[in-house]
Amino acid sequence: MTAYHSTRSAQPTVPAKEAIRTGLAPDGGLYVSDWLENLEVDLGNLAQMSYAEIAQLVLGALLPDFTPEEVAACVDRAYTGTFASSEVTPVVPVGGNWVLELFHGPTCAFKDVALQMLPQLMACSAKAAAREAASAGAPAADKIMIVTATSGDTGKAALAGFADKPDTGITVFYPEGKVSAVQQLQMTTQAGSNVAVCAVRGNFDDAQSAVKRAFGDRELAERLAERGVVLSSANSINVGRLVPQVVYYFAAYAQLLRAGAIAAGDPVEFCVPTGNFGDVLAGYYAKRMGLPVARLIVASNRNNVLADFLTTGVYDRNRPFFTTISPSMDILISSNLERMLYYAGGKDCELIARLMDDLAKTGRYEVPASLKAALDETFACAWASDDEQRAAIKRCWDGHAYLMDPHTACAWDALEKVEALPGVARVVLSTASPYKFPEAVCAALGVDVPAEKNADGTPREPGFAAMDALEAATGTPAPAQLRALETAPVRFADVVDPAGIGAYVERQASEKLG
Ligand SMILES: *Cc1c(COP(=O)(O)O)cnc(C)c1O
Repeated sequence: MTAYHSTRSAQPTVPAKEAIRTGLAPDGGLYVSDWLENLEVDLGNLAQMSYAEIAQLVLGALLPDFTPEEVAACVDRAYTGTFASSEVTPVVPVGGNWVLELFHGPTCAFKDVALQMLPQLMACSAKAAAREAASAGAPAADKIMIVTATSGDTGKAALAGFADKPDTGITVFYPEGKVSAVQQLQMTTQAGSNVAVCAVRGNFDDAQSAVKRAFGDRELAERLAERGVVLSSANSINVGRLVPQVVYYFAAYAQLLRAGAIAAGDPVEFCVPTGNFGDVLAGYYAKRMGLPVARLIVASNRNNVLADFLTTGVYDRNRPFFTTISPSMDILISSNLERMLYYAGGKDCELIARLMDDLAKTGRYEVPASLKAALDETFACAWASDDEQRAAIKRCWDGHAYLMDPHTACAWDALEKVEALPGVARVVLSTASPYKFPEAVCAALGVDVPAEKNADGTPREPGFAAMDALEAATGTPAPAQLRALETAPVRFADVVDPAGIGAYVERQASEKLG
C-alpha cells in the first residue's frame, strides 16, 4: 500500500509520480495516501539532522516510488544555495514563544519552500511518464507548460521555481490592478527564457476560472499534444506542493530540541495563518506521521470561513468577500480542507464525495458530529480584523523588537487569543517577510511614508518609499531581491481578456517550447 487515490474514491490508485504530474484526481478529488500513520520516523535522531536530511527522510516516506537518489537530488537542487538561512526555515524566540520563519527563499514568502521543490519532483515524474510511454510505443508528451492564476504570491514563487527548467514553460496570469505594486514587479521583472507573465482584465476569480477552462479545453489539449506539450498546474492542491511543507514542521521540532526548549517526545503546538488550508494541512500530516503536535491553531483574517467552520462544523462560503491587508489569505474556498476531512472523517470517501457535492450545489456543507468531535481534538482557531493585525504588528515590535508581516500577525493575534496549554511550547508560522507588505507594516507602526518623486519627476512607487521608511524606523534590513525591483527592467506588459487566456497559452507554448 504505497499508492495515492482520490479523496472521493479509493480506486483507482496511482503512484506518487503520477499524482504529482497530473495534480488533481480524475473525479475532481485530491490525491491522498492511506499510510501516513504507519510511517516510521525516528524522532530520536531528529536533533542531529540538517534540513536536507530531514527533507530526505520525510519526502522519501511520503513519495515511496521516488528512489533515495532521486529524492536526494531533488532536495539538493531545491534547497542548496536558494534560501538565505543555513537552517532554510529558522526558528527564532519571540517573547517566550517561537516563530518559524518560512520566508527566506528567493521570493520572500513561504510558498518558496514548496515551489523550489515542485519543479524538481515534476521533472522526475515527467521522465518516468516519458519512459513508460516509450516502452509502450506511445508518443511521449515530454514538455510541460505550467499555467497558473495568482492573487500575488504563488505566481512569483512558481516563476522563480520553474524559470529556465529544461523542457518546461511557465505562464502566469494575474488580475490587472489587483495585486500590489511590489508583487506585480516581482512577476513582470522575472528573468528566464521560458517564462511569460500576463495581466487579465477582471478579478482573481475571473482569471482562475479562465485558467480552469483552458485546462478543460480538449481541442487546445490536442493541438498542444501535437507539439509534445501537456498543461500542468503549480496549484497548492498538488501533492508535490504539500509534501515539502511537511518537512519544516519536523525541522522546527529539531531546532527546538537543539535549543533545549523541549526534550524528545514533548508536545508542541503550531499556530498557522491560512487561507487555502495548505500550510496547516502539512502540520496535520506531520502529526499523523508521529510528530508530537499537541494542537494546531488555525488563524484566519476577516475572510473567516475556516474559523467559523471549526467552531460550528458548518462550512458556508455564501458570505461577502473582503479585501484585507493580508491578501494571500483572502480566500473563501479552502481547497485543501478536503484532505483533512478525509483523514479526520475516518477515510470515508463516500462522505467526502457527498460533502463536496453539497459544496458544489449549495456552497455549504455540515460535517457529522463524530467528525466535528475529531476536529475539536486537534484544532483551535481565531481570526483577526485588519485593525487587529496592525495592533499585533505594533505590539510585537514594541514588546519584543520583532517585525512581522500582516499574515504572520493573524497568527500572532490568534496565539494570544487562544489559551495556552500548560507546558507546551508554542510556534507561530511566519509566512512572509514584512518587506513584502511594507505599506501595511508602516501603517501598523505609525511610520510616515513620504510621497516622493523619481529623478524623472514621476511619482515614486509608495511600496519602495515604505521599504526605506521601514528600514530607517526599525533598523531591520530589506531583502536585497525586493529592493532591487525598483530598478529592474520590466519584461512583460501584456493584458488579455479572460476569454483570451487559451490562445495566449498556446502562443507561449509554441514560442517557449517550440
Ligand atoms: C499563500 C499564503 C498564505 C496562506 O497559505 P495557505 O497554504 O493557503 O493556507 C499565508 N501567508 C502568505 C504570505 C501566503 O503567501
